Amino acid sequence: MFAMKVTKSFLLGLRNVSRRRNVFPEAAARLQHSQARPETSNAKTLMDIGTRRIFNEDHDIFRRSARRFFQEEVIPYHNEWEKAGQVSREVWEKAGEQGMLGVMIPEEHGGIGADLFSAAVMCEEQMYSNCSGPGFVLHSDIIMPYLSNFGSEEQIKRFIPDMTAGKCIAAVAMTEPGAGSDLQGVKTYAKKDGSDWILNGNKVFISNGWMADLVVVVAVTNREAKTAAHGLSLFLVENGMKGFHKGRKLEKIGLKAQDTAELFFDDVRLPADAILGEPNKGFYYLMNELPQERLLIAVMAIAGCEFMFEETKNYVMQRKAFGKTIAHLQTVQHKLAELKTEICVGRAFVDNCILLHAEKRLDAATASMAKFWASDLQNKVATQCLQLHGGWGYMWEYPIAKAFVDSRVQPIYGGTNEIMKELIARTIVGSK
Ligand SMILES: Cc1cc2nc3c(=O)[nH]c(=O)nc-3n(C[C@H](O)[C@H](O)[C@H](O)COP(=O)(O)OP(=O)(O)OC[C@H]3O[C@@H](n4cnc5c(N)ncnc54)[C@H](O)[C@@H]3O)c2cc1C
Repeated sequence: MFAMKVTKSFLLGLRNVSRRRNVFPEAAARLQHSQARPETSNAKTLMDIGTRRIFNEDHDIFRRSARRFFQEEVIPYHNEWEKAGQVSREVWEKAGEQGMLGVMIPEEHGGIGADLFSAAVMCEEQMYSNCSGPGFVLHSDIIMPYLSNFGSEEQIKRFIPDMTAGKCIAAVAMTEPGAGSDLQGVKTYAKKDGSDWILNGNKVFISNGWMADLVVVVAVTNREAKTAAHGLSLFLVENGMKGFHKGRKLEKIGLKAQDTAELFFDDVRLPADAILGEPNKGFYYLMNELPQERLLIAVMAIAGCEFMFEETKNYVMQRKAFGKTIAHLQTVQHKLAELKTEICVGRAFVDNCILLHAEKRLDAATASMAKFWASDLQNKVATQCLQLHGGWGYMWEYPIAKAFVDSRVQPIYGGTNEIMKELIARTIVGSK
């Protein structure tokens, strides 16, 4: 019954999710709804469908489709992609065909027009598949909003429908060899030449960078601005533009199937309409979108924890030592109890952040708390779950090994966890 393909009426149903949610804030309805749906702490597994008060039945239907998509179109090919250091173009197009990209981008902009909760479902299902290769979350929920929120009508029409269809893969390029945490150290420079811009510089660690058809590039446009932040702009740079070169695919310790690349811009001539929004407003646009990016990293982190917990629970219940399964050992039982408790605590906070963000009330500091705490938890869970697998946990063929190395980057990208603490601290003691 749930083996449905995504049909037009299904997508319309998904769009209605956000409209129907407008009546949700009524306390009575929420209470009734929450009583009907178990939270993960009292569900059979942490990845059960039909749980958590933030979702409804429409999200469950979408979750089934997303789960099936990862099972059929991603898991069988992932080993091959890990060797290639990138996924296939076909998987992007299949994701597009099945309504898995641009999920929360408004329909009138060429997206699917569903809500943040549906985007969270897609993100969680990718983590439950333990396949980090396709950079869908970055593309759909981090880059597409830049275009949808700040792009001109023409840019929206030109790029968003193809991005939703998986025919235009996107990347965002902020980091440079000499500027990561401190974006104000960006050196890539776009100089005005008549109505055009001439772009020079290079970027590093760019996810989706090798496959990207479109890159949102952060560049300095005013070197005399009162602060560096006041002189940054965002540009839309397309693959194939003269002077735009992709360097090598970087070899990483995890995210093996994800193409992370260096990008070079040598006198790339950009037309006036390649600028996103207004000149010198780039830092403002970045700051506006970063809370959503950080929330999504937290969403990925808790879902990753849930996957690792279930994987480990199944393992200890069948692995034998001293004549019994290791799940009989009290130390193992206590470890599982501790892990489940911490994951459920994290789940409650992150679900609340999703709810706050859907109501446009998630501030930057709270998003930073979610990102730092959840990604630290993910690494703790990864270490302890791998330990419970013994030597087999160190073998690549065991899913926990992959989940362990993939977890490691989460406290680093999207702003390091040290920077998250800076942002949180500023709201406690004020900026120094
Ligand atoms: C796999 C991967 C994918 C990525 N994808 C992208 C992408 O798609 N696009 C993109 O633009 N970037 C991307 N990045 C870059 C990522 O965002 C940066 O690596 C990150 O912001 C940190 O910058 P950095 O590496 O230059 O470290 P640095 O800024 O040099 O930091 C080094 C250490 O110093 C600490 N530190 C720095 N400043 C402070 C401070 N003020 N207080 C306390 N501690 C501090 C940091 O926390 C860190 O521990 C990616 C990185 C990786 C590894």
